[in-house]
Amino acid sequence: MIHASLTELRAALDARRISSVELAGLFLERIERLDPKLNAFITVDRDGALAAARAADTRIAEGRAGPLTGIPIAHKDVFCTEGLATSCGSKMLANFVSPYDAHVVARLKAEGAVMLGKTNMDEFAMGSSNENSHFGPTRNPWDTARVPGGSSGGSAAAVAARLAPAATGTDTGGSVRQPAALTGVTGIKPTYGVVSRYGMIAYASSLDQGGAFGASSADCALMLGAMAGFDPRDSTSLERTPEDYTRALGDGAGGQPLAGLTIGLPVEFFGPGMADDVRAAVEAALDTYRALGARTVEVSLPNARLAIPAYYVIAPAEASSNLSRFDGVRYGHRVAEYTDLADMYAKSRAEGFGAEVKRRILIGTYVLSHGYYDAYYLQAQKLRRLIAEDFRAAFARCDVIAGPTSPTTAWAIGEKADDPVQMYLSDIYTIAVNLAGLPALSHPCGFGAGRLPVGLQLIGGYFAEARLLGAAHRYQQATDWHLQRPADGA
Ligand code: GLN
Repeated sequence: MIHASLTELRAALDARRISSVELAGLFLERIERLDPKLNAFITVDRDGALAAARAADTRIAEGRAGPLTGIPIAHKDVFCTEGLATSCGSKMLANFVSPYDAHVVARLKAEGAVMLGKTNMDEFAMGSSNENSHFGPTRNPWDTARVPGGSSGGSAAAVAARLAPAATGTDTGGSVRQPAALTGVTGIKPTYGVVSRYGMIAYASSLDQGGAFGASSADCALMLGAMAGFDPRDSTSLERTPEDYTRALGDGAGGQPLAGLTIGLPVEFFGPGMADDVRAAVEAALDTYRALGARTVEVSLPNARLAIPAYYVIAPAEASSNLSRFDGVRYGHRVAEYTDLADMYAKSRAEGFGAEVKRRILIGTYVLSHGYYDAYYLQAQKLRRLIAEDFRAAFARCDVIAGPTSPTTAWAIGEKADDPVQMYLSDIYTIAVNLAGLPALSHPCGFGAGRLPVGLQLIGGYFAEARLLGAAHRYQQATDWHLQRPADGA
C-alpha cells in the first residue's frame, strides 16, 4: 500500500481492502520511523489525521467518496491550516497557529483527503535547497548528505520517501519543479491564477502559485483537480469552468501514443551550464518522446537569460512589501525587551527573520526606493514582458517545450550555502516560466552520477496543464524511472 498510486489507493479503499484509518496509520508509522533522519516534516498531526481518516471511512461506507477521500496527503507549511501551527519555515511564525484554512487546504479537506502534517521548507519559500529553514535542512532520501532542492523540499522528500502518497507545494521560481527533479518525483505548477493564493503565505504575489507533488503524472492530475478552482478571496484567481485534469491520461494510439505532439527544444536550455549527466538523461528522455511519436523542433527563447536578473528584482521587491506585515504587533515573533515601538519592530524583525530573508528585504526595499524604481523595478517588468513574448513566439511552432528542470542533480548540504548567486543559478531553467505565468511540470527521466535523480521539464501554453500531464503520463507508461525508489531509511 505504501507504494500504491492514488488510483490504486482509491480502489483499495472503495473495495474495503484497507480502511483510511489503517492507511493513515501506515504512513504515520513511516513518518515516525524515517523522518527523524529526513526532517521532511515540521508538524505531524497524528490525532487530526486519524480523526479525518475516521470521517473518511464513514463517507466511503455511505458511498459518498470523491477521488481523494481517505487518502493521506501532506501540505507545505506555507499553507494556513486552521488550529494547526503554520510556520512558513520561519522563526517569525514558529508559534503561529492559523485561525483559518487556506483555500487549497479547505478544498482538499472538503474532498476528504487526510492531512498527515506540514512539510519543511525554505523560510518564506526563499531558497533552492531547504537549507534556509528555521527548522533545519531537509535531507534528500536518495542520499541524506544531499539537499532535496527547495523551497518545497519537505513535500518533495516526503513523497520520494513515501512518507505521504502526495503533497502540496508552491512555486514562485521553481520551488515545485526543482525539488521534484532532485528527489525523483513528479511535480506540477499550474498556470498563474488556477490555484487560489488565499491562505498561502505570500512571498512574491505576482509569481506565487500552488502546485502538487506525486509519484506520477496521473497522481499530480488528481491532486490538481482537487486544488484548482475559482476563489473570490484571491483577486488573481481565475474564474473558469472547472477542468478534469485527468482527461488526457488515456493510453493513446498503439505504439505512437504521442503522434501529433510537437516538442520545442529551446537552444538556450541546451547550452553550456548543464551538467553532463543531466544532459545524457534529458537527451535519452527526448529520444523516448520521439520513439512515442512526438516530433522535436528547435525553438529559441532569446530573453530567457535575463530571467534570473529580472526575477531577483521583482521577487525581492514584492517580498519586501509582503513581509512588512511581520512587525511583532498582531502576530508572529516579538522581541522580549525593547525601548519603544520602533525598537520593537526592528528587534522583532532582526530576531525573527533569517539571513536570506533579510537579504531579500534589503534588495527589495532598495529597488523600490525613490530614484531606483525606474532603473530596476520598471526595467525588470519590461524584461518580464519580453520573456512572455518569447514563449508566445515559441508556442507558435510547438505544443510543449522541453528541457532540463535543474542544471545539476542534488548537491551536498552546505555546498552552496555561502554563495547565494550559485544558489540562484540553480533555478535557471524554471524561473522564466513563472515570469510568464505559464504551467510546467517536472518528471523523473533517469539518474545521474551517484544514482541521483534527474528531472525533465515540460512547459505548456496557458491552461495546457491537462496536455502536459497527458504527455508525461504516456512517457511514464513507457518507462519506469518514476517507479524507482530510494533505499528505505537511507
Ligand atoms: N529558488 C527561488 C527563490 O529562492 C524560487 C523559490 C520558489 O519558487 N519559492 O526565490
